[in-house]
Amino acid sequence: EGISLARSEATEMGAVIEASQQKLYATLAITTAFIVVLLLLMHRCLVRPLQQIDSALTRLREEAPDLHLPPGSLHEIKAIEAAISQLHDVLQKHEESRGELERLAATDMLTGLNNRRQFMHIATGEVARSQRYGRPVTVALADLDHFKRINDTFGHAVGDQILQGFAALVGDTLRQTDRVCRYGGEEFAFVFPETAPDEAARLADRLRERLTAAPLLLADGRQVAVTFSIGLADASAGTLEEGLAQADRALYAAKERGRSCTVVAEPRRLQP
Ligand code: GH3
Ligand code: MG
Ligand code: MG
Repeated sequence: EGISLARSEATEMGAVIEASQQKLYATLAITTAFIVVLLLLMHRCLVRPLQQIDSALTRLREEAPDLHLPPGSLHEIKAIEAAISQLHDVLQKHEESRGELERLAATDMLTGLNNRRQFMHIATGEVARSQRYGRPVTVALADLDHFKRINDTFGHAVGDQILQGFAALVGDTLRQTDRVCRYGGEEFAFVFPETAPDEAARLADRLRERLTAAPLLLADGRQVAVTFSIGLADASAGTLEEGLAQADRALYAAKERGRSCTVVAEPRRLQP
């Protein structure tokens, strides 16, 4: 009886051990599957993006040789942080370079004034704004007198200095809202917002007085007397181009009158 009892207990124990073994295998299988899925997820969500960042940083290093990224790859989150901050610096530098290029594209290199393209852009806006609000606006074209003679007498370099000096004087004399450009050669264009032609003519005369009072002094002590002629036109009706064409005709009239003077274009007759 004792033997048969021991046998039946041994059989039960064997069944328990077998059940435990199966549970252990099942747990092992689930854990292995979990680890495999975890590894796959890590590869997809972490390793692959890091590899992409790494290759992007490598490309960046090739394109910007002065960029100092720490050697090594993808395992250093700190390196990525540093690289992102350097990337930010690089982008900022690019932004500054772009701004500088835009400034250069809008500037006349000799005088530092706006160039004609930029002036047309600004003046178109000013004329449109004045017309929208029914405000006065005047445009003008000025041309240095007998400039060829100045070049022939003193040399081209002195001619350049005179153009620079004239530009500086103009910048110093105009009000903040007035805009000027080097229109080409020894010609300058202006837009005077909120200003009727007569008032703009007074500004032109003030510029003439200042130019007469401060002739350019050459290194050898000689003084160069420079004068300019200017034509002004009301631009509060019609296009900027029409206003400038009128100012050009007034400039021509100023030259005809003997130069060094100001002519305001006759107001345009309205078309019937
Ligand atoms: P006017 O009074 O009729 O305007 O006579 P002008 O001699 O000023 O006119 P013209 O058009 O005959 O000559 C303009 C001169 O301006 C000729 C050209 O060499 C000179 N010029 C144009 N651009 C520059 C420049 O950037 N520097 C220098 N030094 N001279 C320039
Ligand atoms: Mg000219
Ligand atoms: Mg001239």
